[in-house]
Amino acid sequence: MSFIEAELAEIKDKLTTQVEGTRIIQCHPALVAVDIMKTKYKQMIARFQFPEGYPDVPILIELQSKTLSLKLCDGLCKVCEAEAKKILGKKQILHVVSFLRTFLDENPFTVCSDELSFIKKDLVTSTDEIKTKHKSGVIILKINEGGYFMHVHLTVPNEYPTNQVEIENKACNFPALFVMTFLGQATEMARQCTEPPLRKKPKDPPFEPTPSLRIVAEHLVKSVRRYPHECCPLCKERALPEDPKDVITSGSNMKYVERVYCGHAFHYGCLNKYLKTPPFEGGKKCPDCGKRVYHDKWKVTPELAEARWAHKEAKRRELDEVMDFLE
Ligand SMILES: [Zn+2]
Ligand SMILES: [Zn+2]
Repeated sequence: MSFIEAELAEIKDKLTTQVEGTRIIQCHPALVAVDIMKTKYKQMIARFQFPEGYPDVPILIELQSKTLSLKLCDGLCKVCEAEAKKILGKKQILHVVSFLRTFLDENPFTVCSDELSFIKKDLVTSTDEIKTKHKSGVIILKINEGGYFMHVHLTVPNEYPTNQVEIENKACNFPALFVMTFLGQATEMARQCTEPPLRKKPKDPPFEPTPSLRIVAEHLVKSVRRYPHECCPLCKERALPEDPKDVITSGSNMKYVERVYCGHAFHYGCLNKYLKTPPFEGGKKCPDCGKRVYHDKWKVTPELAEARWAHKEAKRRELDEVMDFLE
């Protein structure tokens, strides 16, 4: 039996039992092809060819995947060649397949390598901080803007993208209302990537989960960048204080910042006065974007607001008359 025949026999005999999640597609002297799978999305096919002079030269390797990025496969191919070079003169295929399977096990980021490189290169800036923990699949992100910051951990689960990226708030110096909104919206966006819509239209194609990491990171970064500079649409002065230490937490303070349905940030005092002053027809609109202003604190219909205002005006006129009388 030649060296290559012996290696092929060993592959057929041991590969699938020794390396979990593998399947032999072809196994003959011209080509060995193995399917390596951890989850539906962490899957690749490795093809091997015996070059002239094998096993004293490294085996030829080609990697292909429907789910992992081309760039990752190319990079991984080079690493595999280096692995093969370490054991020249010996059987190399089993070793390389086992190496690839371990790589899939230990690198949760394989399924989101493109998303992660976008976040690192195009999303975060030199004022932010980003760290990645490869074994646990955690991205530590600290987004800084004008004295304000948000520090989150984004975890890429094993079953990504079937399961959504997990978001954990570590620290943040925005007002509590803003933190809740940023996180709530990001979580909802991620959920929509992984859960089919409740009302399915008959002609819709079957639901496929889509990656949620980039969407979540972009939303959080966009939110943190936006609000420190945003002005109240009514008084045109900055909504949040310049120094986060001066953030007002009392909801009835005139300078407390409310975030309404359209996303614009208003001072409580400015908004309260605006919503209680006519005209009321057609509902109150945001001066910056024209959308109706909805807020839980002011659940009033235009009619009710009108009636309240008329009542207050009547009281004021009465008082004015009394004042006139006293003068
Ligand atoms: Zn204002
Ligand atoms: Zn608006």
